[in-house]
Amino acid sequence: MFLMRLIVLLIIVAVLMWLLKRLFSPGPEPERLEAKNSENMRQCKYCGVHVPESSIVIRDEETYCSAEHAELDRS
Ligand SMILES: [Zn+2]
Repeated sequence: MFLMRLIVLLIIVAVLMWLLKRLFSPGPEPERLEAKNSENMRQCKYCGVHVPESSIVIRDEETYCSAEHAELDRS
């Protein structure tokens, strides 16, 4: 009888832990965020802003957030 209660209690605790885990780390959402964050960020040489690699401007092997800043840095 005591063992049965203990097993039931353990199951309840396990389910609660699982529910809490799910609550605090909802599945696909953070993974997608991580994938976004894993995109290489490059710093603009002119203003220091971090820009994803897909939208940077490269001039003379330096990276810039925009063509405008690339132009401004050269002058
Ligand atoms: Zn900039």
